[in-house]
Amino acid sequence: MRMHDDDVKAGLIAYLRKHHMEVCRQWFDDISFGGIDGGVLRLVVGEPVQLNYLQRTCGTQFTDAAQAVTGRLLAVRFVGSSPEIIHDPAPDSVTADMPGFGEQMLLSPDYSFDAFVVGPGNRLAHAAALAVAEKPGRAYNPFFIHGGVGLGKTHLLQAICQTFIRNRPSTKLCYISCSTFMDLFHESVKCGRMQDFRLRFRNVDVLVIDDIHFLSKRDHSQEEFFHTFNSLYQAGKQIVLSSDAAPEDIPELEERLVSRFKSGLVACLERPCFETRVAIVKSKARLVGIELSDEVPAYIAARVDSNIRELEGALTRVRGHAAANAIPITLESAKAALYDLGSGAPGLQAIIVAVTRYYDIKLADLMSRRRTKSIALPRQVCMWLARRYTRFSLEEIGGHFGGRDHTTVLHAIRTIEDRRTSCQELGRAVDEIERSLGPRTHA
Ligand code: ADP
Ligand code: MG
Repeated sequence: MRMHDDDVKAGLIAYLRKHHMEVCRQWFDDISFGGIDGGVLRLVVGEPVQLNYLQRTCGTQFTDAAQAVTGRLLAVRFVGSSPEIIHDPAPDSVTADMPGFGEQMLLSPDYSFDAFVVGPGNRLAHAAALAVAEKPGRAYNPFFIHGGVGLGKTHLLQAICQTFIRNRPSTKLCYISCSTFMDLFHESVKCGRMQDFRLRFRNVDVLVIDDIHFLSKRDHSQEEFFHTFNSLYQAGKQIVLSSDAAPEDIPELEERLVSRFKSGLVACLERPCFETRVAIVKSKARLVGIELSDEVPAYIAARVDSNIRELEGALTRVRGHAAANAIPITLESAKAALYDLGSGAPGLQAIIVAVTRYYDIKLADLMSRRRTKSIALPRQVCMWLARRYTRFSLEEIGGHFGGRDHTTVLHAIRTIEDRRTSCQELGRAVDEIERSLGPRTHA
């Protein structure tokens, strides 16, 4: 029996919603069915960023759906709608693709300007980001965004990148995390490929680097970055940077870079107010195709005030709870899903504040890659507390604290767990920090 085209598409979406809820997005509605041929089911995607995202992250789920819906052993292929974007974005035009280096930083279609909610705490950063995206090299250069964990730095950076890609497909854009920049630098030194490295980074039109606070004085990559920066800047190329602290507060940053970072526009992201949080929850729900009645976002926003990533985490729990119980999302179901949130469990931000205060260290140090004992121990305590009181995964916790992998986090947690009992001083420290976190009261 032959299925009608529209049925195949609708069937796929319905199956994905039921079995792979986590990948589903509202914009899947814009995907069109391109036919089945030679065991391959083709799906046509107009937006290059969406196309690349699907190709790289959703293959398994769509294949599963295609096989279930058609009852045939099919492979799924995502293709572009116009001839020039049929393939992956051209390697030297879009994304941080580094031929020979095997590095690409994926852009998430979720992180667009459309999905970014503007409020008092991010108005300037948002306006400046838009200006930079529309007039690279001419509005603000460099453009430097800073703010705490989960406040939207990466989102804004990616929104800028997506606008570049859409408006000027031929722009040579390099979007990369600072730690990848550093790793590539070391790799290039080791393999005697510095020439390639320089060519690669100094030939771009736009350089976007996330989490630049990882630069360290004791690491030669900082020197290299300085020269990259100068060479691009002098050529009038746009540079966009994000950091968890203002330039002058990045502990390991050389003075000459501090002054360069401050020479363009420095914009700060502040924690969102209640109204903005409500709007963000609604926007996140819309992104995944859910309409919520007003009271649910308001309830979630009142319960979570630390950062936006935790706000999203709460929404995910509410969705998961409703899906697991096969009930619609209502105020009651949201309350049930979040019953233990705010029963005294502190958020990540509160943990970080308590630990930096107790040990009298700077936030930027805690989030840096520094391994000195005076920083490493407080960081391990943070990781241990984060695991104990928040629902973040080991990977997520590692990501928050200087881009560490989950084994490092696991090691930190075990270390504190062991030494908390064997070392009196540590035991007392942890007790006191936990006491200072106290039971939080919520609206
Ligand atoms: P950071 O890089 O500052 O740690 P992210 O950019 O990763 O934070 O943001 C964390 C989450 O919060 C992301 O899912 C992002 O989409 C969301 N977010 C942050 N700010 C906003 C905003 N103003 N509107 C909508 N979502 C936001
Ligand atoms: Mg980030």
